[in-house]
Amino acid sequence: MNQIDRLRRRFADEMGGAANESVGLHETRRMRHEVRRRTLTVSRIEHLTPRMMRVHFISPELADFASAAPDDHVKLFFPQAGRIDGKPVMRDFTPRAFDRAAGRLTIDFALHENGPATEWAANAKVGDRLDIGGPRGSQIVPDDFDWYLLIGDESALPAIGRRVEELRAGAPVTTLIAIVHPYEEQRFKTQAVWTPIWLHRGEPNKGDADLLRDRLADFTPPPGDGFIWIAGEAAIVRTLRAHMIEERHHPKAWVKAAGYWQRGKADAHVEIGD
Ligand SMILES: Cc1cc2nc3c(=O)[nH]c(=O)nc-3n(C[C@H](O)[C@H](O)[C@H](O)COP(=O)(O)OP(=O)(O)OC[C@H]3O[C@@H](n4cnc5c(N)ncnc54)[C@H](O)[C@@H]3O)c2cc1C
Repeated sequence: MNQIDRLRRRFADEMGGAANESVGLHETRRMRHEVRRRTLTVSRIEHLTPRMMRVHFISPELADFASAAPDDHVKLFFPQAGRIDGKPVMRDFTPRAFDRAAGRLTIDFALHENGPATEWAANAKVGDRLDIGGPRGSQIVPDDFDWYLLIGDESALPAIGRRVEELRAGAPVTTLIAIVHPYEEQRFKTQAVWTPIWLHRGEPNKGDADLLRDRLADFTPPPGDGFIWIAGEAAIVRTLRAHMIEERHHPKAWVKAAGYWQRGKADAHVEIGD
């Protein structure tokens, strides 16, 4: 069996025995999940860093929860006392970790100036309840690339951390993450070969794209095929994606980019492509 067949077989095996010849090298798979609304209870709160709150939720309703990819997202429903229609507002968050046996879901909240999610997290206490919906689906990027480059800001840190932790042993992965201050740096336990690059840029700024691009100038891709993932403020993500494809000539199919928020706009999830 040659190297490509071996990788194909291993990926198919990891997909839960769905081994078949149609699974190609570097092929992203989509998985749909039954969409359900669940009510969770806060069981523990950790102040990971001054700006990052880790909230652990428990619920028997998590028994059939599934999250197959590190950049999955759930909708969180925040009740709004003053709202005339009485409807909660929704925001997207990454299932940072899920422990089925314990019935526990973990979500990391990057605190920023304002917004219902930030305000809820900053005031959360054990026993609080919150409704979630989803994930609706997962896009599973195969663990068969020769290297990975993950770029983002605080909002993308949970998805980046989860991907770094879930990568196969020995896989080279570089992360480039813009944060306010060195005290926002995080450590991830991983068997991958992880090279973190932290950009200490102060508060998020329009010029962050240039700063990140400058730091990328020092990045020499390892040999072989690489997967690049970019998420954060939408305009910055768009600039960096274009840079990697048009100036660094990285194959478009191996770049995944998403705007996780938009400057001056509430609740903005922007898929970024052509
Ligand atoms: C797929 C996906 C997964 C995500 N996962 C996470 C996650 O795990 N953890 C996480 O913290 N965020 C995550 N985000 C980002 C999060 O959904 C947004 O930051 C969201 O806008 C926060 O809601 P809010 O109510 O606090 O602020 P909003 O009411 O949406 O916005 C209020 C103001 O704050 C600004 N703003 C919003 N987000 C940020 C930010 N991160 N930094 C600075 N200013 C901001 C807006 O431009 C607006 O002016 C994810 C987004 C997506 C699309």
